[in-house]
Amino acid sequence: MTPTDMPGTAIPGRIVDDRVIPARGDWSGVVPTGKVLRIVDLEGRQAVDFLCYSAADPSERYNAADTMKFAKTIFLTRGHGIYSDMGHRLFTIVEDTCGRHDTIGGCCSAESNELRYGVKDTPSCRANFLRALTPFGLGKKDVVANLNFFMNVPVESDGTMGIVDGLSKPGDHVDLRAEMDVLAVVSNCPQTRNPCNGFNPTPIRLIVTDPA
Ligand SMILES: [Zn+2]
Repeated sequence: MTPTDMPGTAIPGRIVDDRVIPARGDWSGVVPTGKVLRIVDLEGRQAVDFLCYSAADPSERYNAADTMKFAKTIFLTRGHGIYSDMGHRLFTIVEDTCGRHDTIGGCCSAESNELRYGVKDTPSCRANFLRALTPFGLGKKDVVANLNFFMNVPVESDGTMGIVDGLSKPGDHVDLRAEMDVLAVVSNCPQTRNPCNGFNPTPIRLIVTDPA
């Protein structure tokens, strides 16, 4: 089955960019105001780590805490804004066929994998972020608490958090409408030591459309 045959991926508007990001891969690019970035979990249960910045001034960037406060929930979905640390809306989630994403678990790194799992030099979202930020002149100081699409991090009533199997099915997607020119940075999570990718990293598809 090719991506275009996948259920749930009828594309609204004119496609201006369309690419498959392989398992463990990364991507960065500017989504202009009004354009929509669709992130498709092609095979299901694949965490997609995500950062975003004002393209005009990347010192303005995604702020997890403010985004949660404005949404009044840690679980973002259709209708919620993704906010910067300057109180500006970077993206609006205009479609969400999955309904479960994570705002608190952050990204994996070789260092945290060594601490948690006793393995050295693993591929990681942090390394992917740094690689994807480099062409824009950004680096370690610009990696902040990130959003994880299709990752399932439940919090129990006693405060216990976990990383459990994702709820996304093949073809599930989120559509993010840019509310300013936004630099978007994606890590297709390479983690294999917890269930965030079903222990099997798989490709995703990124489509930018012009709904006008
Ligand atoms: Zn990861």
